[in-house]
Amino acid sequence: MITTETVDRILRFNGGDLPVVSLYAGVGRDGPTALSTQINSLLHEIRPLERDGSLGRRARLSIRGDIERIENLEGLERVETGAVAVFSCSEGDLFEQVVLPRAVRDRIMVDATAWVRPMLAVLDEYHRACVMVVDRRSASAWELYQDELRELGGVQDPALRKPNYAGWYGLTEHRVRNRADDLTKRHYRNAVRLLDELFRAGDHELLIIGGHPEEVPTFLDFLPQHLRPKVAGTFTVDLRTATPADIRHSAERIVEQYERDEERRWVGEVLERVATRRPAALGLDDCLWAGSVAAVQALLVQDEATAPGVVCDESGWLARSGDTCPLCGRPTRRTEDVIDELADAVIGEGGSVEHVLADTELKDHIVAASLRFPLPPRPTPEPRS
Ligand SMILES: [Zn+2]
Repeated sequence: MITTETVDRILRFNGGDLPVVSLYAGVGRDGPTALSTQINSLLHEIRPLERDGSLGRRARLSIRGDIERIENLEGLERVETGAVAVFSCSEGDLFEQVVLPRAVRDRIMVDATAWVRPMLAVLDEYHRACVMVVDRRSASAWELYQDELRELGGVQDPALRKPNYAGWYGLTEHRVRNRADDLTKRHYRNAVRLLDELFRAGDHELLIIGGHPEEVPTFLDFLPQHLRPKVAGTFTVDLRTATPADIRHSAERIVEQYERDEERRWVGEVLERVATRRPAALGLDDCLWAGSVAAVQALLVQDEATAPGVVCDESGWLARSGDTCPLCGRPTRRTEDVIDELADAVIGEGGSVEHVLADTELKDHIVAASLRFPLPPRPTPEPRS
C-alpha cells in the first residue's frame, strides 16, 4: 500500500542535475509472470542514455545504476493485479518501488523530476473509509484504503446475559428490558466516541456501518451531526461470525457504489454547466483546446478512452491533428494518446482529472470539463469528419 509519506518523498526529491527514471508496468492479461519482460522492454528504451554524450558523467552513471537496480526488482511474482511503479535516481539515493491498486499503461520516463501523475491519478480513485461493525455489546473499527483493510480499534461493553424471562413477572421483565436498553445505549455512545476520535485523528472521507439490519438504524441515530454526511452506506453482517474478508468485501461494494454515484454527479454538473452556458467543454476537440489554454478546472474522462493526436511541446497546444502548431509555428509531436497528454497538462496546471467508470452520458462525448473561463475561439477551423 502506498502511504502519503512515500508519495511526498517521491514528490519532494530533488537530485539537482541528476535525472530520475520513472517506470510504470501494469499487470496485463498474462499476469505477473509477464511483468519482468514488460519491464525489460521499457528499460530497453532508455539504454541509449547510458552512452549519451550530451549527459554528464554522473547522470550517465546514475541511469546505469537505475537500470541495473530495476532489472533486479524483487517480489514481482506477488503483484497479481494493478501495476508496479518505480522511481529511481541511484546517484541521488532515490529508490522507491510501489504497487498501484489499478493497472496503468506501461511507460518509462527519464526527466529532472519523478513522473508521478499516473500514480496520483490512480490514487485519486480511492477514498479512505472508516468501517465500523457494531452490535449491542461490541464494536470494531477498521480502515479500508487501496483494497486493504486494517483494524483501528474496538470497544467491548458489558451487556446483560440473555435474560431468561421464564418465571419473571411482567413488571420485572419490563425492568430487565429497560436495563438492557440502557446498556446498549451506553455502548452505542462509547462506539460513537471511538468513531469521533478516529475521524478527528485520521483523514477518513467515508464512514461505513455494518451490523444487524434491525440494530444499524438505531446506531445511526447516535451519530453526531458532523459524522452523518460521511456515511456512504450500511451493510448486514454478524459480528460473531464475520471474517475481515467478509467485512472488506461488503465495504468495498459500498465504496464502489459511492464512487460511481460521485462520477454520475460530476458528469451531471458539467452537463448542467453546458446547459446553463457557464464555462464548460464537451467532447475531445473543445477539451483539447481548453487544455491548450490552461482553462480546465476538472476534467472527466471516460475510463479506458484513448485517442491519437498531436502535441506542441513548446506551447502546449493539443489537438487531434495538425503537423504545425498554430500558436508558435513549430512542428508538432504525434502521440498515441492525446487524452493522456491532456490529463498531464490539466494536472500540471493545478486542475483535477477523474476517470469515469459509471454509465453516463459521458460515453457519447468521451471527455468533458468544467472550465475556469470561457474558451477563446479556436485558432484553426474545425476539422471536418
Ligand atoms: Zn506551439
